Amino acid sequence: MAPKNPYTGYRDQLTTLNESGKRRWLYAQQPKGKLYNYRNIVSYTLLTLLFAIPFIKLNGEPFLLFNILERKFILFGVQFWPQDFHLFLYSMITLFVFVVLFTVSYGRIWCGWACPQTVFLEFIFRRIEYLIEGTPAQQRKLNAQSMNFNKFWRKTLKLSLFYAICFSITNAFLSYIIGIDQLLEIMKAPISDHSVGFTVAVLFSTVMFFVFTKLREQVCTMICPYGRLQGVLLDSNTIVVAYDYKRGEERAPLEAGEDREEDGKGDCIDCYQCVDVCPTGIDVRDGTQLECINCTACIDECNSVMDWVGKPRGLIRFDSEKNIAEGNKQKWPVRKIAYTVVLCILLAVVAMLFSSRTDLEAIILRTPGLMYQAQENDSISNMYSFKIVNKTNAATPIHFKIMNHEGSIKVIGEAFNAGASAIKEGVFFAILPQKEITSDNIPITIGVYADTRLIEEVELTFVGPN
Ligand code: SF4
Ligand code: SF4
Repeated sequence: MAPKNPYTGYRDQLTTLNESGKRRWLYAQQPKGKLYNYRNIVSYTLLTLLFAIPFIKLNGEPFLLFNILERKFILFGVQFWPQDFHLFLYSMITLFVFVVLFTVSYGRIWCGWACPQTVFLEFIFRRIEYLIEGTPAQQRKLNAQSMNFNKFWRKTLKLSLFYAICFSITNAFLSYIIGIDQLLEIMKAPISDHSVGFTVAVLFSTVMFFVFTKLREQVCTMICPYGRLQGVLLDSNTIVVAYDYKRGEERAPLEAGEDREEDGKGDCIDCYQCVDVCPTGIDVRDGTQLECINCTACIDECNSVMDWVGKPRGLIRFDSEKNIAEGNKQKWPVRKIAYTVVLCILLAVVAMLFSSRTDLEAIILRTPGLMYQAQENDSISNMYSFKIVNKTNAATPIHFKIMNHEGSIKVIGEAFNAGASAIKEGVFFAILPQKEITSDNIPITIGVYADTRLIEEVELTFVGPN
């Protein structure tokens, strides 16, 4: 039977609350190490993308646009219309299943590595704090002081920078909603011309400022619904940031000349480095906790401690509770492989659906209530109404052709273009010579062409005389 972790004080009290229930401010050490270097690369890549993507255009369209106000959505330069709602629905279902399966298999990696809350807090705001207010010990000392010139200028500079960054991030988000061109125009115009928009931006920036100056880790541990779901999503097979208690216990400080094995001591030297570096203030040695955002800072920290004491790395590592309990090295049980395959299939299905989406969509219906019309040259006609949805930003000439019979199409009005990002509606006659009318209900296929490209074939019926 696996030894039990005897240190259970964490069950009685949140690490961010003191005994009287008041907030205990966390002064997390800045991490260092291989994984932190990787996080730096991931985070600054994501930040660069956040600010650069609004400037990228494909085929004259923004790369990404989520204009909820005008119901205009663009993904990878391609416009999505309400007619594409089924794709949105599939994507949402896939996303939901993906999030569940991914979390069940790989834990909360998203939180520590890619969530905007973590990226902004750890790689922008806390970095600035270290630069202006110094190390956690110096910050603690500064906060304990009553107001003086040193404290005043440091706090003023830090908070001003924080607010300016929050305002910039708000504008970056805004550019994904209204587009960068419109945002730049608004910026050039006087504030009075856009007082409502400006007020909303200031309010949003203020909320963000409050989140990064005051709330901080409370967002991850108490507010975020994804964080709260961990309790039901994780199980003993999930890969999490875990402390190998079988190897680490009994924890005890390092003593000169000791033989730890002989003394029954484990590899953990109880240095608390892993706790000091934790941005949510928990002790990973207490087991998997809701507060752990899988940031891996404690892995880096403990690895450097293990290097220093000459023990193998990995006392804290990515592993499952079950593997640690059973001393099992297999990190990829069949279930995890199966989930990963399902995740890949889901992504492939959505990618296929998106790639099969058409830029132009045609709906043709026989005009209700009308029978056939006798035409010159011994021909019969039926009237149809059409609707062409052009999802591109270029006008396209449209014409129709009867695919499975001899005959012709006569559009009421002039030859027309489906306007850029517009819906064109109209009416046409399909005309068949009498010899093609073999019954009173003939299947007819109408081809819809955008210029010379066949975009759709619509199956209809043609009513003729008995
Ligand atoms: S950093 Fe490693 S050795 Fe130090 S307390 Fe944490 S688990 Fe133990
Ligand atoms: S326990 Fe480790 S991985 Fe989890 S939040 Fe703290 S430092 Fe990050």
